[in-house]
Amino acid sequence: MTARDDVAARATAGFQRVYASPPAGRWAAPGRVNLIGEHTDYNDGFVLPFALPLRTVVAAAPAAEDRWQVWSELTGETVSFGTAEVTATGSGTPGPVTGWAAYVAAVVWALREAGHRVPGARLAVASDVPLGAGLSSSAALEAAVLAALVDLGGLDLPAEQQPRLAQRAENGYVGAPTGIMDQSAVIRCHAGHALFLDCRTEQVEHIPFELEPAGLAVLVIDSQAPHRHADGEYAARRASCERAAKQLGVTALRDVPAEQLDDALARLTDDETRRRVRHVVTENQRVLDTVALLRAERVRQIGPLLTASHTSMRDDFAITVPEIDTAVEAALAAGALGARMTGGGFGGCVLALVEAAQADQVAAAVTAAYAERAFTPPTHTTAIPAAGATRLD
Ligand code: ADP
Ligand code: MG
Repeated sequence: MTARDDVAARATAGFQRVYASPPAGRWAAPGRVNLIGEHTDYNDGFVLPFALPLRTVVAAAPAAEDRWQVWSELTGETVSFGTAEVTATGSGTPGPVTGWAAYVAAVVWALREAGHRVPGARLAVASDVPLGAGLSSSAALEAAVLAALVDLGGLDLPAEQQPRLAQRAENGYVGAPTGIMDQSAVIRCHAGHALFLDCRTEQVEHIPFELEPAGLAVLVIDSQAPHRHADGEYAARRASCERAAKQLGVTALRDVPAEQLDDALARLTDDETRRRVRHVVTENQRVLDTVALLRAERVRQIGPLLTASHTSMRDDFAITVPEIDTAVEAALAAGALGARMTGGGFGGCVLALVEAAQADQVAAAVTAAYAERAFTPPTHTTAIPAAGATRLD
């Protein structure tokens, strides 16, 4: 049995056990990893995520009344809420359902806020997406629940409108200030492709990103580094970028093209701000360059762009940590074509583009480098660009 069948089977078994009846259907949404384009999203820039084979599966059935019950394998809890808990609380105020079930209540809330008649439902969740590792288990949960509710209720909400609704759920009800990338990736990705997303216009393009036929693999290494001060540092980077955009007289740093970078830097007085701007402007260009190479089927050649992205995050944006830098350096030394931290920083995952035949050797080298420094041993998975949220049966 593959891991994919397994997680779906666990969702069904959980549903049967908790509700003593079979589900009406199962819906799945994947985790995601960002190939390149870090901290560009809130600067109105470009990102290039792809969906992972790791998935969250929701088994669901309609309920007779306007109540929602949800069980998750993760906690073994069943949480129940009614219309009172998912009625508009006012923008920016987290909703009354808290903890993990907030992500589910948030989706019901956002659908209702957008005027949809959401059917009551029973839900059971199982997942292979690791939590809090930067692979977007939160968006996977939102997207799988959203897909289930849209289908069960026959709601008119096309896939291209779903990311914004899921983002609204996470921002407005859970209270997490995320951008549009995670939800776009887990809903809209296609198998064998990365999703080129313009965070200003929300336009997407599916860029072929076939690894196996090229004899390549992407290793996703969970650094196991604790997220130190991630929220505060994220807010500080964001504020710095917004200040810089104001000083430069542009709406967002996306409006500074790479060829005008030197002029822009000369107009900034503070060295730290200059480094932050340099990261964002060069990173946007690296996304565009990566897309151009992938379109030309020159996949191996994106390696140096990945590594340059890492160097920029380490030296200019200052968002890496020793575990992450160790993993990148060890992967490169063991023959990776390129490697970088992925995600917001201060922990999370590293991705490495490797010759498929060398994947084990690169993973072993990272593990050995960790052992030398007495870091918590890393875990890894091999990523194959997968499809976005879908109904299973
Ligand atoms: P990430 O999205 O990077 O994994 P987040 O902090 O944004 O990290 O979201 C993780 C949270 O999402 C978890 O703490 C939990 O509340 C919720 N979550 C995600 N997947 C599940 C699941 N299968 N069951 C219950 N809660 C989940
Ligand atoms: Mg998340």
